[in-house]
Amino acid sequence: MLTGKTAIVTGSTSGIGLGIARALAADGADILLNGFGNPPEIGRLRQELAAQYGVRVAYCGADMTRAADIDRMIETANRELGRIDIVVNNAGIQHVAPVQEFPPERWNAMIAINLTAPFLITRAVLPRMLDRDWGRIINIASVHGLVASADKSAYVASKHGIMGLTKAVALETATTGVTCNAICPGWVLTPLVQEQIDALAEREQLSNEEASVKLLGDKQPSQTFTSPEQLGALVLYLCSDAACNMRGVGLPMDGGWLAQ
Ligand code: NAD
Repeated sequence: MLTGKTAIVTGSTSGIGLGIARALAADGADILLNGFGNPPEIGRLRQELAAQYGVRVAYCGADMTRAADIDRMIETANRELGRIDIVVNNAGIQHVAPVQEFPPERWNAMIAINLTAPFLITRAVLPRMLDRDWGRIINIASVHGLVASADKSAYVASKHGIMGLTKAVALETATTGVTCNAICPGWVLTPLVQEQIDALAEREQLSNEEASVKLLGDKQPSQTFTSPEQLGALVLYLCSDAACNMRGVGLPMDGGWLAQ
């Protein structure tokens, strides 16, 4: 379906972003990976994806807190892949603390990565998508874009913010071939969530398994984690022609979290 298309996936050296990049590459898209990590491992990942799926795989280690890095990432994608058809704004961070103890520098970093970077990327790629009258902007929000949890003030604010950005961009592009939507996962077992499991295990003297069950039990009725592969499949759907009139929605994949 996506042969001849190109995609940027931010934060794709790990977790959900990597699952989404794999799904896009498997479907034929050339991709630009972004995110932090060990350079030889990232080099091996590029080679593996290129060999397995027969696509071009570029990489830019741009830091999503820096506007100049974001410009460099877009230039790299245009130079190495020729164009940008699909953007998945996925890079994100978490910090858990009550609001009165929340470090302002963590707040600023979270708003920068989770919200401002998607804005900067969207405003940079949109003109050429509109020129070609085709594009897909997919923002990885969270159930926390739609409801809150305690001790996640910056995360909840950034994810509610990205839902607002998604809706505004969807309206501004509503009569065009460019769509903008969001995906709202519940718990997905990635390094970002493993940190929260580790903290819970330490705080309550639980095993990793017991802490995982407790984490899911509090919020996710299915009692199972959503996988990066399942989210990759949802991204492919949003890239398909069948989804061309989905605009400004936030699609939960949350094991029933929001049904409660
Ligand atoms: P992760 O920690 O496994 O991966 C985060 C990725 O972002 C990594 O590739 C990392 O290198 C990159 N990254 C971090 N800071 C960056 C920066 N300043 N510049 C560039 N790249 C940076 O996290 P994940 O769980 O895969 O989360 C991915 C997205 O999904 C985030 O936006 C997160 O909020 C969202 N999400 C995750 C879950 C979950 O349960 N894991 C649930 C809902 C939403």
